[in-house]
Amino acid sequence: MAGDVNFPEALLAPMPQGRVAMAAALPVLHEYGPSVRIGLSAAVPQAPISEAGLTGQERLGLQAFRLRLNASYKEAKENRPYKSASWGGDGGQPRLHRDRHAVIPPAVPATADPNAAQAAPPVRRLAGRIAVGLFIVSGPGSLEMTDAQQQKIIAEVQNGLSFLGGQAPAKDVTFTYDIQVVQIATPDTAGQHPIGGDPYEHFEAPWRDDALTSIGHPAGLSGIGSYIKAIRTSKRAQAAYCAFFTHYQLNHFAYCRGDYIVMHYDNDGWGTDNLDSVFAHETGHVFGAPDEYAESGCDCGGSHGVYGRPNLNCENCAEGGGVSCIMKRNTWAMCAETPYHLGYTMPAATGVAASGVAVEA
Ligand SMILES: [Zn+2]
Ligand SMILES: [Zn+2]
Repeated sequence: MAGDVNFPEALLAPMPQGRVAMAAALPVLHEYGPSVRIGLSAAVPQAPISEAGLTGQERLGLQAFRLRLNASYKEAKENRPYKSASWGGDGGQPRLHRDRHAVIPPAVPATADPNAAQAAPPVRRLAGRIAVGLFIVSGPGSLEMTDAQQQKIIAEVQNGLSFLGGQAPAKDVTFTYDIQVVQIATPDTAGQHPIGGDPYEHFEAPWRDDALTSIGHPAGLSGIGSYIKAIRTSKRAQAAYCAFFTHYQLNHFAYCRGDYIVMHYDNDGWGTDNLDSVFAHETGHVFGAPDEYAESGCDCGGSHGVYGRPNLNCENCAEGGGVSCIMKRNTWAMCAETPYHLGYTMPAATGVAASGVAVEA
């Protein structure tokens, strides 16, 4: 077992040269390139692999997997701070979301036409090939992202997404990565955000836009959109999203803005050993899963994700507060509703046909 998510994972044999990714014999959880793929398999975790000729990204994925196999990494996970604690911050831990917002509405570009129709946000499904763009944003001085920190980020994302991929009933989720380590000279954002402005955008925009333009995409939300579209196409993925990891000052240490996630490396009081679970939780929001902890103000109604299911495990109304779930607590558990919210491929008998059933108040 790698990390603490309790699925058997192993490095798969490299794909033969020139072959495109076809249906693999074993479910592929993580794909860093043709030579480094990690699958659900009870085989020896690490078959010998020729490391000469690996791309930088494949190397990062392989090193992350090795890190997750280390006894010290697993021990740190066993002893992670605030294990099983609510994301609501009821025990001294920081509340995961500010202002009860699971998803912060996208910033409105300064040049936006106020009469333009707001495009409906895309409904994503956590099924099939999912392109994950990871920006590791390294700045000057104390904002530098060291090699060890880059490694840690890739391992944490891998651990968190092993949970989300491994939980898929059909075992049909493959996370295929585009890792961008960008070095920029942007100074940290100082001072308060202007009154009336978007505080998230105030802290995020300077370094985010420099990161986007440094890899040839436009600044602003259009750049995020074009980047996500590009990786979705190049990875032949059914869905795509991206995440930024940084030391830059943020309005909040972790948040989701629909298409993308922003995370501070320190992860506030949760600490870096919880980057995996916070990332998995935020990814849940990208795919339409609602919060379930009491302080989020959730209720048991609503229509979430592609199956349009209510939030029946919401702590405020589920019997006895409901069961443990990644959308409620810092834990590798999932309630019966979150799989539908995420849009997993569900067994037919309980799938789409079951949605739309009236919920008793
Ligand atoms: Zn949340
Ligand atoms: Zn749940």
